[in-house]
Amino acid sequence: MHQGRAQGNFEKHYFAKRFGNQALLVALTGNNGQEYRYTDAGHRKREEGKTPMNMEQVSNNCYAVLNEKNRVCDANSGLINVGGGMVIDTQSDLSHARDMIKMFGSVWSTMPKQVVNTHEDADHVYGNQLFEGAEIIGHRSLPDRMKMVAEPTEFQKLMRVANGALSGPLLKLIHPGVVGAARQLTEDYEFNGIELVPPTKLFDDRLIINLDDLEVHLIHVGPCHQVGDTIVWVPKERVVFAGDTIFRLCTPMGWVGTFEKWCEALDFITDELKPDVIVPGHGPVCGIEGATEMKAYLQYVRAESKQFFDDGLSASDASRKIDLGPYADWISPERIYLNVERAYREFRGEPPDKAWDQAKTFDELYKNARARGLTPVY
Ligand SMILES: [Zn+2]
Repeated sequence: MHQGRAQGNFEKHYFAKRFGNQALLVALTGNNGQEYRYTDAGHRKREEGKTPMNMEQVSNNCYAVLNEKNRVCDANSGLINVGGGMVIDTQSDLSHARDMIKMFGSVWSTMPKQVVNTHEDADHVYGNQLFEGAEIIGHRSLPDRMKMVAEPTEFQKLMRVANGALSGPLLKLIHPGVVGAARQLTEDYEFNGIELVPPTKLFDDRLIINLDDLEVHLIHVGPCHQVGDTIVWVPKERVVFAGDTIFRLCTPMGWVGTFEKWCEALDFITDELKPDVIVPGHGPVCGIEGATEMKAYLQYVRAESKQFFDDGLSASDASRKIDLGPYADWISPERIYLNVERAYREFRGEPPDKAWDQAKTFDELYKNARARGLTPVY
C-alpha cells in the first residue's frame, strides 16, 4: 500500500503524541523526512465466519453471543428476541458484528429495533453502525467517553504502525507489549471502516424498557470497570447481561472506578437480583458463581497488593510476585498488573479516573507474562 508524505508525517505526529520517542521517530522517518512503507498485514480482511463465535440460548427469549477465544476484544453480546428485538453490545469490528447478525437470523427475522451498549469500550460498541434505524441506548456518559476511549482512527493507526515493515520491529523494541497486543488483534480484527456511533437515548441511573410484555431493566452500576458500566436485567427470565462488570474465567481489566464500587455491583447482582443466568462481558455463560468469584478475585488482589504496597514494592514488582492461586488458569493472568496498579492508585489516594499510559500498561502485561514464564496473551 502506498503511503504519501502527508500520511507519513501524520503517523510521525501520532507517534510523538502517543509514545514521545524521538529516536524512534528519527529511525522511522529519517532526518530528511523520507517515507516509510507499511506491509498489508494490518489491512487484511478477516474471513467472516472463521473466528469461533457461538450463540447460546440462555432463557425463553434471551441469547448470548460468545467469542470463544476470550482474549482482549473478544467481547460477548446478547439478543432478546421479543418486542422489536434488543441487542446488547455490538462486537469489536464489523465482520464480527455481521457474523453475529447472521446468527440472530436463526431466532429473529428482522433487524433488532433497539441496541444497548453496556459501556464505552470499543469492543462493545464498534458494530453499532450496522444497526441502522435502531435506537441506541446507553448511560449518559457514553457519547463523551466513547470519544475518549474508542476513537477508531487511533486503533487504525496503531494497527498500521505495529504491522508496518519498518515501524513494527522498531516499535517492538521500545513497546513490545503494544506491538504484541496489536499483532494479536490483527489475527481476528479489522478496524478500518468503523465509525463511532454513540447512543442517542441516554439514561442516568435506571431505565425500564418493555419489549411487549417482557420488562428489561438497564441499571447503571459504574464506575467499576468503566464509567458507563450498565447491567441489563431481565427479571421474568432471571437473566443478567453483566457487561464488563463480570469477566468469567479470564482476568478482569478495569480502567475507571474503584474496588469498592465494583464489589458493590457484584453484591447487587448476587444479593438483590439473584439471577439464574449471567452473560458476562467476557468469557462463558455462568450462574451466580461468576459474580462471587469475580468479587473474590478483586478482594484477593487488593489485599495482596496492600501488603506489597506497605513493603514499598512498586505496582509492577508486586504484580509479578503475587501468587495467582486459584486464578492462575484464568486467561491472561498477566492482566493482574492493571488490578494491582488500580489498588496502588487507591492506596495513594489518587482519583479513580486517573488517566492510563496505554503503552506502558501493555508493556507491563508483556513483562509480567515473561516474568511468570508465560507467552503473553492480551
Ligand atoms: Zn470493557
